[in-house]
Amino acid sequence: MAAEPGGGRGRGVGRALACAVLLVASPLFVAYVWLCCEEYGCAISGPLLDVALGRGRSPGRLLLDGLPRPTLAGFTVFGVWYASQAALAIALPGRIGYGAITPAGHRPAYRLNGLLAWLVTHVLLGLAVFRWRLFPSTIVADHSGGLLVAANAAGLLVAVLAYWKARRFPSRPADRRWSGYAVSDFFMGVELHPRIGPLDLKLFHIGRVGMMAWTAVNASFAARQFQELGYVTSSMILVNLLQLVYVLDFFAREDWYLRTIDMHHDRFGFYLAWGSMVWIPFMYTLQAAYLARHPVRLSPAATVGILVLAGAGYAVFLSANRQRDRFRRSDGAVRIWRREATSIPARYVTADGAIHHTRLLTSGWWGFARHANYAGDIMMATAVSLACGFAHALPYFYAVYLTALLVHRIYRDDRRCREKYGAAWEAYCAAVPYRMVPGVW
Ligand code: NDP
Repeated sequence: MAAEPGGGRGRGVGRALACAVLLVASPLFVAYVWLCCEEYGCAISGPLLDVALGRGRSPGRLLLDGLPRPTLAGFTVFGVWYASQAALAIALPGRIGYGAITPAGHRPAYRLNGLLAWLVTHVLLGLAVFRWRLFPSTIVADHSGGLLVAANAAGLLVAVLAYWKARRFPSRPADRRWSGYAVSDFFMGVELHPRIGPLDLKLFHIGRVGMMAWTAVNASFAARQFQELGYVTSSMILVNLLQLVYVLDFFAREDWYLRTIDMHHDRFGFYLAWGSMVWIPFMYTLQAAYLARHPVRLSPAATVGILVLAGAGYAVFLSANRQRDRFRRSDGAVRIWRREATSIPARYVTADGAIHHTRLLTSGWWGFARHANYAGDIMMATAVSLACGFAHALPYFYAVYLTALLVHRIYRDDRRCREKYGAAWEAYCAAVPYRMVPGVW
């Protein structure tokens, strides 16, 4: 069981305060955005202007009237979604993939059936809507408030469960990390790979409850637009298509995802539990939610421009992530851009005292910048936002948020890798001085 690295008491207090603020502010912020869309046509300043200009809403009334209400439909839809995803994750076949070695020297194994689960989920949704007529295609758009309440309740419940489990029934006691501050541990998580039976809580919530919902929620907003207009605009098709590619890529390369920072380093607490159940389904789908209310007709030139930007971003994102994954899996014996891969040897020590040898890739994208994959991701996110036009700021939220998240992550990762690899990381930074954009930063 490790204490949180890198920080004295002052830093620990600062982190605990930040966690406490985010714990309260994040759900309120999502509810605020929901209200903007429901009552103010997605104008992000709408409710605040009402309060500031005294147009019938005091801050108290905003909280009382503006928050979404719990509904039976919301809890039922969310509960069915959650339970069916758990059933699919457990029941569907899939090959075994392995995560990275944990600080305590354990290598976790996972059953990889995400792509199959995505297919089964979406085929079942299609049958339920169009053949069995169990519910309308606009179900998410129709019950967004009730669903938001249910998702928040589930996110909080799972985070409490994760904290309690870490104390009483840890899956791997040696891989727990306590910060000394309960609020930080609750928010950031304690266990690295908590499991309940065959379910890995982290992969299940991020992938199956969160990422899986992204395409289904988008489709529901497209259906809402069709209901209103009698057709679906080119921008809505583009947003659905580009984000479908992103989600399918996630599931098709689930094996790769096992060795990303989310899976390898982040602990499972409120941040990932609530983030998977509320943040991804509600905030990552804002462009489709916006277009359902503001149809945007793109010119052919704009469509081509957006596709080019998204395609270029996806190419960088995909090839950079693949290069590092192929390199790591083949222990460095791989050709990148028709040349033998070059690298810097590195070593690190796990908590059990074992020394591990690895390499830091300096070929391909990883020779241009230390996080070119992030630049590709941001290009894709920007392309999706551009598909929504320039009338409102809200569709740009995801691109701005992702940029902030990834820039923060670059600093976080740099600090961690410096601690882990020491001189080898210094040598890597000297060989590849740019963080994300070659020649710029
Ligand atoms: P990276 O894929 O950049 O992984 C960083 C890790 O890779 C480091 O911690 C280190 O881990 C290893 N590494 C770093 N440099 C090298 C090198 N030169 N050679 C070999 N290994 C190296 O980060 P993420 O896991 O954060 O991101 C994965 C993808 O997911 C990205 O494309 C990102 O854009 C995307 N993403 C999307 C988000 C979203 O919300 N849409 C959120 C976060 C990420 P080790 O300890 O193994 O050496």
